[in-house]
Amino acid sequence: MQKLDGREVSKALRESMKSETIRFHSHHGKFPGLAVVIVGDDPASHVYVSNKEKGCAEIGIKSFKYALPEKTTYEELATLIQKLNRDPEVHGILVQLPLPKHLPSEKITELIDANKDADGLTTTSMGLLWTGQQRVKPCTPHGVMKILEHYNISVTGKEAVVVGRSQIVGKPMAQLLLDAQATVTICHSKTRDLKEHTKRADIVVVAAGRPRLLGKEDFKKGAVVIDVGMHRLENGTPNGKLCGDVRFEELDGLASAATPVPGGVGPMTITMLLQNTIRLAELSVQKK
Ligand code: NAP
Repeated sequence: MQKLDGREVSKALRESMKSETIRFHSHHGKFPGLAVVIVGDDPASHVYVSNKEKGCAEIGIKSFKYALPEKTTYEELATLIQKLNRDPEVHGILVQLPLPKHLPSEKITELIDANKDADGLTTTSMGLLWTGQQRVKPCTPHGVMKILEHYNISVTGKEAVVVGRSQIVGKPMAQLLLDAQATVTICHSKTRDLKEHTKRADIVVVAAGRPRLLGKEDFKKGAVVIDVGMHRLENGTPNGKLCGDVRFEELDGLASAATPVPGGVGPMTITMLLQNTIRLAELSVQKK
């Protein structure tokens, strides 16, 4: 079984992005800019934001970090997003989720100008995706497609099953596979017989958010298995071991290729955010 190494794919993509940011700077006198807004003290969210800043620094994206206190009001956050929407140095905006409970995440995400939606998750961006007019693709599903592309795994005509129908992973994942000419089935918690679907699929993308849900009895021989799930075991302690939605160790001798957790889809998400920022920067100058 081939191990699909997201770290390797991510490294290769970041190398080519470095020359894209340099080229952008030489043509336009500035680097692509990404604003990241974080509200509150959630430690995991602060780690994600710091990794995004490091990624920006590595490839030549100017990052703008706005760390706001837990008690920030909707009006204060809306004012900041509107200011960033107007800022010519900022090409991509991301509001780190989850937000504190008093702030309505969906309403706030919708305030981001669709031309600066680095995550590709606003209603406008999703509508553009479903009609084949997307500016950028949602980061995690886009990362999955890049892994398949990197390892020359053809999608055309394949039976693909996506387990999960969330707005950020399952639904856009299905659309990207469809765009790549797969025949796609979406499964969810009410699917009557999950195994019946996964077992006949050539490509299975698992994003159920259920630790170690699927194993050897759920896939056919030669399947490609992509595990999006990410869970920290040992009572959620920060040092707990990471695992996915798939029992990876059971796939040897069965799957033709699979992503491990950690080191599979995870490293791709931030890399695709960086790529989306460069793309939005390029689109912003094309419009003028
Ligand atoms: P989510 O919003 O909780 O959605 C989970 C989806 O899986 C739902 O559609 C749910 O069905 C379905 N589901 C749950 N249990 C199922 C079961 N037993 N059989 C079939 N379907 C089932 O989760 P998410 O945000 O999409 O994330 C999924 C996983 O990916 C999580 O572990 C998350 O941590 C991980 N993730 C990783 C990355 C990364 O960078 N690697 C990024 C995002 C998410 P219903 O709709 O019927 O409830």
